[in-house]
Amino acid sequence: MKNLSLLGSTGSIGTQALEVVRNLRAQGKQISVKALAAHSSVTLLETQAREFHPDIVAVFDEKAAASLKVCLRDTGIQVLAGMEGLCQAAAWESADTTLNAVVGMVGLQPTLAAIQGGKTLALANKETLVAGGSMVMEAVRRGGVKLLPVDSEHSAIFQCLEGCPGEAALDKLILTASGGPFFGKSREELKSVTREQALRHPNWDMGAKITIDSATMMNKGLEVIEASWLFGVPEDRIDVVIHRESIIHSMIQYRDNAVIAQLGLPDMAVPIQYALTYPERLPSPAGELNLWELQKLTFFPPDSQAFPCLELCREALRRGGLVPAAANGANEQAVLLFLEGKIGFLDIPRLVESAMDRQKPGNVTLEEVLAADREAREFVKAAG
Ligand code: NDP
Ligand code: MG
Repeated sequence: MKNLSLLGSTGSIGTQALEVVRNLRAQGKQISVKALAAHSSVTLLETQAREFHPDIVAVFDEKAAASLKVCLRDTGIQVLAGMEGLCQAAAWESADTTLNAVVGMVGLQPTLAAIQGGKTLALANKETLVAGGSMVMEAVRRGGVKLLPVDSEHSAIFQCLEGCPGEAALDKLILTASGGPFFGKSREELKSVTREQALRHPNWDMGAKITIDSATMMNKGLEVIEASWLFGVPEDRIDVVIHRESIIHSMIQYRDNAVIAQLGLPDMAVPIQYALTYPERLPSPAGELNLWELQKLTFFPPDSQAFPCLELCREALRRGGLVPAAANGANEQAVLLFLEGKIGFLDIPRLVESAMDRQKPGNVTLEEVLAADREAREFVKAAG
């Protein structure tokens, strides 16, 4: 029996997670949804609430929360609002597992609330670990809770590490990257790429923010930081390789140079489901891999001239402290401006770099992380 709190239920990961839940139920697995949460998608939240009958639904936007309350008045489902509502949903008493699939730094406080509530945490919200990694990992350690990665690369590494005899056996992590829609383009060519081109990812259908992050390679940079916290491996032992087909989801290399990889069709159903059923393996909605049809897999080094965001994130991780929070906050704001057509594609790394350089050293406490995030956003708004 599994009781789930699902934050970000209306998004790409959230809706796929509910599809995984439907599929598990169809197999007779007892899994129920006790809490749902999103920003403001009232219509979809109402449909989901009527299908899954959670105890509560949390809506970040206060006005949207008020209107959902009216829509659900015949159901007895409680509607909560704001950050407080989101944190209550994250730590909801009758849930044992919280899947955090909201997009952005806004996921940090709910993540901490879920950990403090003793929940098993299935984490898709990578920005949480980027901005507050040391704090989150310390809370996980102190609370003795399970942290299960949902990001496909990190789920792959988590799966590859099963059977690892101990830290000393591990040489490095190898993250794969699709390269996004602009793989092979020069810096000059990237100057004029449009929002529509950037939103066309070759292999994955994801939310807008992570799709832009994939185009700039910021996503892979955020994932290096995420991997470093999740697996306790320093930046110089995390390699990135471009693998256009997105079939190998990531790899680990042992001290004896044996490399273990996890493969499969690019479908988030597998990492989402594994985080929900771990350590069990059950049939999933994902299709089967046919290696004969594929014939070959290709690999290339990343181009740090054209896509500086990956190197910037490595630098942020090396500098440590609040620098990753500043890089992440600046990126979130720059992506918004790019999506609104207010800045160009290459302004994203430029603004991230400047925000990092402005960040003073400080302690990674919740207040300081929130302040570093806010300042980086304000700087980008003004400079963009
Ligand atoms: P989407 O943009 O598709 O969905 C975002 C979700 O977060 C929506 O449910 C949205 O609600 C909710 N949300 C946004 N802001 C708030 C807020 N302030 N309070 C509460 N809820 C909020 O994003 P994705 O599903 O693509 O990504 C979610 C996370 O998972 C990101 O951190 C991403 O990096 C990570 N991830 C995603 C992958 C993918 O395949 N999509 C793969 C690996 C990681 P609303 O609909 O109301 O706006
Ligand atoms: Mg990923």
